Amino acid sequence: MEKSLRRKLTFSHMFVAIVCVLLISIVANNFLERQFQNYIIQTIERKSNDIVSAIRQQYNLDDEWNSIRIESIGVDALENGFIISVENLEGKIIWDANIYNNGKCESIIEHMAQNMRQKYSNWQGEYKENQYDILSNSQKVGNVKIGYYGPFYYNDNDMLFLDTLNKIIITVGVVSLLIAVILGVIIASGVSRPISRVIDTAENISNGKYDERIKGKSDIKEINKLTTSINHLAKTLQEHEMLQKRLTADVSHELRTPLTTLQSHMEAILDGVWEPTMDRIKSCHEEIIRINRLVSDLEKLSIYEDENFVLHKSQFDISEVIKNIILNFQSQSLDKNIEIEAKCEKQMIFADKDKISQVCINLISNALKYTLQGGKIEVRLDKKKEFIELSVKDNGIGIAESDIPYIFERFYRADKSRNRLTGGAGIGLTITKRIVEAHKGKINVESKVGKGTVFKVILSI
Ligand code: ADP
Repeated sequence: MEKSLRRKLTFSHMFVAIVCVLLISIVANNFLERQFQNYIIQTIERKSNDIVSAIRQQYNLDDEWNSIRIESIGVDALENGFIISVENLEGKIIWDANIYNNGKCESIIEHMAQNMRQKYSNWQGEYKENQYDILSNSQKVGNVKIGYYGPFYYNDNDMLFLDTLNKIIITVGVVSLLIAVILGVIIASGVSRPISRVIDTAENISNGKYDERIKGKSDIKEINKLTTSINHLAKTLQEHEMLQKRLTADVSHELRTPLTTLQSHMEAILDGVWEPTMDRIKSCHEEIIRINRLVSDLEKLSIYEDENFVLHKSQFDISEVIKNIILNFQSQSLDKNIEIEAKCEKQMIFADKDKISQVCINLISNALKYTLQGGKIEVRLDKKKEFIELSVKDNGIGIAESDIPYIFERFYRADKSRNRLTGGAGIGLTITKRIVEAHKGKINVESKVGKGTVFKVILSI
């Protein structure tokens, strides 16, 4: 049967508390009682010795039996549960508690037996008698018999003490149990509440509410980690959903513009409104080229997004590659009056030449696209230990801070209208990043709107 975490934790806490309290109570009770029994047995022994030495002292003081003094010792002993009988050397009774007060002796023994039976249901005790010699100057002058209820007995004070001890143990047990249960409930809700919060939010996220976040912190490390993971998951899903929507919007938008133009031109020609002149056919052709470019961009993307795309590595001089690419862009840079400066010295690297060329082409062509007339582009190659850093810096339009995290995503374009004019579909940087990462390299970007952008690629030699 399924149980809630809260119930399960409360019950297990209660169970552990009950077992602990019971165990501690039983052990404490047994231990204390055993100690007390030892103490009682020792007390009986000590008191017996005290009685013997008191009688011996009496004889030594008076040098004869003094029945009045012995009676006072005997009465005192009787009060403590000892029935004594003193005899001289000839066997003559000097003082005997039974003779003195037989009824009291019997009632004392019966009372002790009753106390012990009340305490222990299957108690087996009996009247015991020990005999001690009375010596004077190392000469035996008589003996004393000390009788008591054995092996040991509890008097009323002892019974009261044991009773109080039991009550204390029971009270402490019950109070500890109550505290344990209350603490158990508090701890269980402390653990289950944040987990329930996580579950609720996770359910909402799974129902598509990606903007949901788990708020508040728990004092449990694992729950905080879970919360952070779920929040991160929601954020990632939200970003993906946003990109997905943007991707669909971008692709359909890119297709709609040339298709609408084509459709209206064709309809006008078919309806006889327009003459199929060379210019009109040329314009239709350009739109078809634009659609084709988008489709081939999509194809290229699918190749580079394939997890298993293969690198054909070889040793080559990357500075040579860069210089050739800059040469190929010369007419474009002249058109926009943009100066491209290359600070590259010969540098051999082991990589896929075609794909690294693609990286350089993408970065330099972007720099050209997003730099205004009369701007400047600087391409540098710096060696850093076993790495090289290729940087492409421009003083163009820059990228807004809010766009920077997304520019490497498929079809993401910071400024849609400008891109449509320049013909970019927003996949150049996605491919660039994919190639760099396939070479186990890194790419990052720093940019300021209106100031310019620098892309840095780090590759191992
Ligand atoms: P596109 O084909 O649109 O250029 P990219 O993937 O190459 O696609 O670039 C993604 C977006 O990043 C661009 O649309 C542009 O907004 C921004 N971008 C890339 N390079 C630069 C740059 N050098 N300066 C300013 N913006 C840039």
